[in-house]
Amino acid sequence: MELVVEGNVFFEGRPRKLSLGIEDGIIVSVKKVIKGVRTADFGDRLVLPGAVDAHVHFRDPGMTHKEDFLSGTTAAACGGVTTVLDMPNTRPPVISLADLNDKLASVRGRAGVDFGLFLGLTGRGQAERAAPLAAGYKLYMGSTTGDLLVDDYFLLPGILAPLAGTGRPVAVHAEDETMLRARKAVPRDPLTYDEARPPESEESAVRRFLGALGGNRGHVCHLSSRGALELLRPAKAGPSDGKAGGGAPSVPAREGAGPQTAPTCEVTPHHLLLDAKDHNGLGALGKMNPPLRKRDQREALWNAFLDGRIDCLASDHAPHLEEEKDQGFAEAPAGVPGTETMVPLMMTFVKDGRLPVERLVDAACARPSEIFGLPAGRIAVGMPAHLAVYDLHELRVVRGKRLNSKCAWSPFEGREACFPKAVFLRGRRIVDDWEPSVSPGEGVFQTGKARALAK
Ligand SMILES: [Zn+2]
Repeated sequence: MELVVEGNVFFEGRPRKLSLGIEDGIIVSVKKVIKGVRTADFGDRLVLPGAVDAHVHFRDPGMTHKEDFLSGTTAAACGGVTTVLDMPNTRPPVISLADLNDKLASVRGRAGVDFGLFLGLTGRGQAERAAPLAAGYKLYMGSTTGDLLVDDYFLLPGILAPLAGTGRPVAVHAEDETMLRARKAVPRDPLTYDEARPPESEESAVRRFLGALGGNRGHVCHLSSRGALELLRPAKAGPSDGKAGGGAPSVPAREGAGPQTAPTCEVTPHHLLLDAKDHNGLGALGKMNPPLRKRDQREALWNAFLDGRIDCLASDHAPHLEEEKDQGFAEAPAGVPGTETMVPLMMTFVKDGRLPVERLVDAACARPSEIFGLPAGRIAVGMPAHLAVYDLHELRVVRGKRLNSKCAWSPFEGREACFPKAVFLRGRRIVDDWEPSVSPGEGVFQTGKARALAK
């Protein structure tokens, strides 16, 4: 065997002492003992699948002073993420098959991990033609970075109808623009920003989105409110109902997921872990769309994440430079970096026993791979050897300056996190003793399979 990786390997639903035999970047054997030309023995450390971050903004092309494909994918790799799906609100935006081809030609030589690209929906450019190349479609119902807003909701069914046959998911930024415009008060901190873009605006947008979906598979991005969650995944009566945050999950992953065509959803670490009130002092560094919410909303999200009603974890990595954030809350651009800290932050809850590792692997690896039809997210014979190795006894403090994003700050500054000690992309080590060794162009473009969701 070319390469053998030994450790506490997450295989068939739980970690166990195993060896992975790897040839040509593919896992070809999973056994107790395998003899290899080279062996990487990680002892008792956790060997998990590389994560899939289905929501990143690498700002490339057009805003590469904030991030570019190489810095973004390097940050992802150092956070144990081996596949990213990049959003279309770049300059120029990606709204046609030609745009998608241009962006692919521009970024492919600089990708250090596997990647897919979203296509932005505007109602103008024959989006269905881009289906073979797009990871999915992105619909902006509320205004945010870029100018891809669709705010005439009567047009939605007509925009979405031609996409139904393509099998690609429609991911939505759900904030009801008509409600955002109705608010006049100028926000000055995360708390007043939560009031200016309230949870009800997300709930309203999700309701409109579900009504317009037709035969499409919907995916709600960065879920932030209990109201929208209830529309997507009504809480079951039982122990998880109304429980205050932090308890053990009472329902195994996926049970709450509903029928095959049910819309899926994601949540960000910042909406799970940061509170508009407690973290109001973040100022503009705590400004993102949708905003940070207060405790009751956050606890509802955490419980739904634990019990599997929220499918995925995604970072919504949206870097801006500190000087851009420094211009005062109202003027500062919205968005925070997060792909490098996403899994490492959640690993601390695995360590504490508050988050089962199987739920984290499901949410960060398996589920996004299933939703977007990606060859990733699972350790099994025949799968690419994308692996991330974690030592729960080696926690590090998040320091923005030491992260790999160009923006060099983090809303989680000072928090403990468990960064991966080693990361493999197709069997090659792209992170070694916490140091990146990504190779530009090594990341493979993934189109996703246009198929129904397997459950
Ligand atoms: Zn986003």
